[in-house]
Amino acid sequence: MPHALIAGGGLIGLLTAREVRARGFDVTVVERGACGREASWAGGGILSPLHPWRFPDAVNTLAAHSQAIWPGLAETLRERTGVDPEYRPGGMIVIDEDDPDEVRAWAERQRVAATPLARGQLTAMVAGLRPPAGHCWLLPDIASIRNPRLLRALIALAVGEGVSVLEQTAVTGVAHANGRAIGLDTAGGRIDADAVVICTGAWSAGLLGGLGAEPPGIRPVRGQMLAFAPPPGLLERIVLTEGHYLIPRADGTVLAGSTVEEAGFDATPTTSARAELFDAATCLLPALSEVPVRAHWAGLRPGSDDGIPTIAPHPALAGLWVSAGHFRNGIVTAPASAGLAADLVAGRKPALDPAPYRWPPAAAARPTPAGD
Ligand SMILES: Cc1cc2nc3c(=O)[nH]c(=O)nc-3n(C[C@H](O)[C@H](O)[C@H](O)COP(=O)(O)OP(=O)(O)OC[C@H]3O[C@@H](n4cnc5c(N)ncnc54)[C@H](O)[C@@H]3O)c2cc1C
Repeated sequence: MPHALIAGGGLIGLLTAREVRARGFDVTVVERGACGREASWAGGGILSPLHPWRFPDAVNTLAAHSQAIWPGLAETLRERTGVDPEYRPGGMIVIDEDDPDEVRAWAERQRVAATPLARGQLTAMVAGLRPPAGHCWLLPDIASIRNPRLLRALIALAVGEGVSVLEQTAVTGVAHANGRAIGLDTAGGRIDADAVVICTGAWSAGLLGGLGAEPPGIRPVRGQMLAFAPPPGLLERIVLTEGHYLIPRADGTVLAGSTVEEAGFDATPTTSARAELFDAATCLLPALSEVPVRAHWAGLRPGSDDGIPTIAPHPALAGLWVSAGHFRNGIVTAPASAGLAADLVAGRKPALDPAPYRWPPAAAARPTPAGD
């Protein structure tokens, strides 16, 4: 059986490992810390791009294919591992959207439901929300997932399916000879492989330097979140406004996100972000000001200028692929990204057109999303 190494045990690496395994490879995930503790753990778990009409088709295509996979995947995770990742198809309310034509055109093009909401309908749906200043929409088919539980379940599922996981093992470089990747160099020595996939999120560009092609421009973009602990029932749907959102969990927890900060590889939460998130959340839903804040954390998104991940073979080294740069949409787009990467590794005709995710991202040819 050919052996594939996946560098990075975040959501992208773990799902890719499963898919590559399903295509007939012996697979090992090499993770420098513990799997699923970086961006994939820190994320909000909204299974949609925020304001999806502002994103290029390449992102929405990955999202749409993944949205069809998520309900079954969440059920498999729950059934086979006993850990419920809390897939919640409660819908997303978007308030203060100033371009209703753009929303309508996107919904028609993507064939998804988007219902305009009058102020009375909005109040009936979310009691206590501050009065909106602009157009409001309900996207009824948008779901969310609870990241830490998702990752816990996924690690168990992947291992149960035969994926090997090597934690506390930092990858230091890609081993290569005669124009071919032959494995990974790690802090614990070299591991040989027939195929290597780099899924190290925000840290990917560093591992891809010096290999005969300019690495994709992936950089860390810090995001911070707060968790409020109200009694169950305060909020039942995701609410999104310009720059901020609230996400309800099954036990009543409300997450408030998020910041978008260029802070290098510093994932320390800051008091200024805490104040910003608290103010935005309590302005949106004033009842939250009476509620304790249970947690505050930060994660490093794998940022890319256009928000489009690179899922592609390395142009100079055979046997090497990358799947990274999912930026703000790495949770929603993960299942389809994993399927595409695995098809490429296995030399199968991909189910998705790989062209938009090619290496290096031809940023000039791609539309840039405004905002999120
Ligand atoms: C605050 C916040 C909110 C977000 N909300 C959402 C959302 O609602 N919906 C959505 O779709 N997306 C969201 N995202 C984005 C999403 O979380 C990311 O795009 C996604 O998790 C990226 O997954 P990944 O596996 O590529 O990266 P990561 O989860 O960061 O995984 C990369 C892994 O590689 C490992 N690694 C790095 N270097 C090495 C090395 N040298 N050797 C071995 N291992 C290494 C790391 O330890 C890590 O485990 C959010 C992100 C943040 C921070």
